[in-house]
Amino acid sequence: QNLADKVSGYFVPVVVIISLITFAIWAIWGPEPAYVYALVNAIAVLIIACPCALGLATPMSVMVGVGKGAQNGVLIKNAEALEKMNKVNTLIVDKTGTITEGKPTVETVGVFSDDYNDKKVLQYIVSLNTNSEHPLAEATVKYGKEFNAEILKSTNFSAVTGKGVEAEIDSKKIALGNPKMMEYANAEITSKMKEEAKTFQKQGKTVSYLAIDKKVVGYVVIGDKIKATSAKAIKELQNKGIDVVMLTGDNHDTAQAVASELNLADFKASMLPEDKLKKVEKLQKNGKIVAMAGDGINDAPALAKSDVGIAMGTGTDVAIESAMITLVKGDLHGIVKAHHLSSAVMKSIKQNLFFALVYNTLGVPIAAGVLFPFFGILLSPMIAALAMSFSSVSVIANALRLRRINI
Ligand SMILES: [Mg+2]
Repeated sequence: QNLADKVSGYFVPVVVIISLITFAIWAIWGPEPAYVYALVNAIAVLIIACPCALGLATPMSVMVGVGKGAQNGVLIKNAEALEKMNKVNTLIVDKTGTITEGKPTVETVGVFSDDYNDKKVLQYIVSLNTNSEHPLAEATVKYGKEFNAEILKSTNFSAVTGKGVEAEIDSKKIALGNPKMMEYANAEITSKMKEEAKTFQKQGKTVSYLAIDKKVVGYVVIGDKIKATSAKAIKELQNKGIDVVMLTGDNHDTAQAVASELNLADFKASMLPEDKLKKVEKLQKNGKIVAMAGDGINDAPALAKSDVGIAMGTGTDVAIESAMITLVKGDLHGIVKAHHLSSAVMKSIKQNLFFALVYNTLGVPIAAGVLFPFFGILLSPMIAALAMSFSSVSVIANALRLRRINI
């Protein structure tokens, strides 16, 4: 649209001037009745030049492209995404819920302290997490139900973004989350505990620690499967020359396990929401055109900042609101489709601009009468009107071809 606006900014004044010059030349040097020839030819110039198809060129292709995307589960909220997506050279992907299913399940619960058994640890975890909407929390609540864990009353619940949750239960301060949360709760994770957690993390699993009154007493291990299509989609994008970077709030070992399964050389773990945002800004400053794919509240700032934000339809509303594109099924293959679609739409728009202008460019001199002195050829305003209709029809027909492409 920007391009069309720029073109018409020059095109319209030029055409009006040509029309006036045509009138003047025919009025002065034209055959009798000179004013009739002058008027008819000046009008023919205006009609043939009318850039009506120019106005259709972009919106038609965008509309058909957006429809095509929707049929393929790629919802495009902002047409700018179609313009930029094929220029993207760096893709940042979130891990949980984007690369992985985001349907985590609890694998086991462990205990570090002699004062509590695994049943008690599970009970605290479940009681704390019934207040939380985090997918990991939901997994623990489901697991708790299987073991009939009785839910204790909790007060002063709060979620600390990117870290974990805390509340008071049995007038004890309970905190659950990653090492950053333990630091926040002033609970020390000993190297022996870290060692134990590491065996799970190396398998791509997430370990959340439970602290009671500033003491780490146990943990819960949660696994999350990689989506069936993630590996193939990432490989296809890499083959297109796009650098794929995984950013996750999860710890290094879990991230490493997922990254190596997907052949992702570039990943960063333990990222807070602002770290993801900073990474996008840094890449943009280095001249990269950055797409970001994510599903969570923690991805929202980065999604909004990136050149093309891509949200998983299975993710949070905040992520969807912040993104330009939503992948209905949350399938990363949608990014490959969006990339194809973007190239096809941009190509279609350029063809449309050609069709919109070729009739004008050829028609204007003929209408002005440049062929008249040599061949006696003039363009009747009626033929000019017909040619203009053809240019609109050509543009529409060309845009509709997008419906048949395979993305
Ligand atoms: Mg996520």
